[in-house]
Amino acid sequence: MKVTVLSGAGISTESGIPDYRGPSGLWRRDPDHEKLVTYDYYMGDPEIRRRSWLFRRDNPAWKAEPNAGHRALAELAAAGMDVWIVTQNVDGLHQRAGSPPDRVLELHGNMFGAVCTACAARSTTREAIDRVLAGDGDPACLSCGGILKTATVMFGQALDSGVLGRAVEAAGDCDLFVAVGTSLQVQPAASLVRIAAEGGARLIIVNGEPTPYDGLADEVIHEPISEALPRLAARLLLA
Ligand code: ZN
Repeated sequence: MKVTVLSGAGISTESGIPDYRGPSGLWRRDPDHEKLVTYDYYMGDPEIRRRSWLFRRDNPAWKAEPNAGHRALAELAAAGMDVWIVTQNVDGLHQRAGSPPDRVLELHGNMFGAVCTACAARSTTREAIDRVLAGDGDPACLSCGGILKTATVMFGQALDSGVLGRAVEAAGDCDLFVAVGTSLQVQPAASLVRIAAEGGARLIIVNGEPTPYDGLADEVIHEPISEALPRLAARLLLA
């Protein structure tokens, strides 16, 4: 059985990471914070960049641990299932829970990696934060002097077309599509659900709140994710 999972912020809130980006998240509620993660503001102002690195430093993801929900999904792949995980999260917790990194598609990138906006050289967010803490207000690329940013998709930036293409393929080509911890109110999350349903996949939605796609789902689970996913995984592995 081919399983594609779409995960959103809700799967990581039980690991202590708040939903910054969602419709009612910090970044949307507070325009000052939103600037720190908005591409044009970031590129246009060194002070925004300095504050943005410090804001990343304070993200609880640095100390967070995967929870039972992340681990349950990792167990499916470990048991030999053909699993793709498409995630809106940038916290790396699926990989740390044991999901194979080449099977995790990070729609919004990863906050622990940094990238040069001029030459695309890769480095780490840790290194950039350390340079800021050492007094460099605007750490530049060590190869070319270009502006560095986290390897995340900021507001105003397009998603990586390669990652998105593989996510669309994984949605269209699965037997079971599980949407977990996402309100399904933003793209491309909503369209991936539709693509999966139109492709004939069984659809299970696991989310605390109702979503616009509950009516399309074969099953809707409103329990806490760290309880619902282990139960679901056990059921799938017995089937
Ligand atoms: Zn560079």
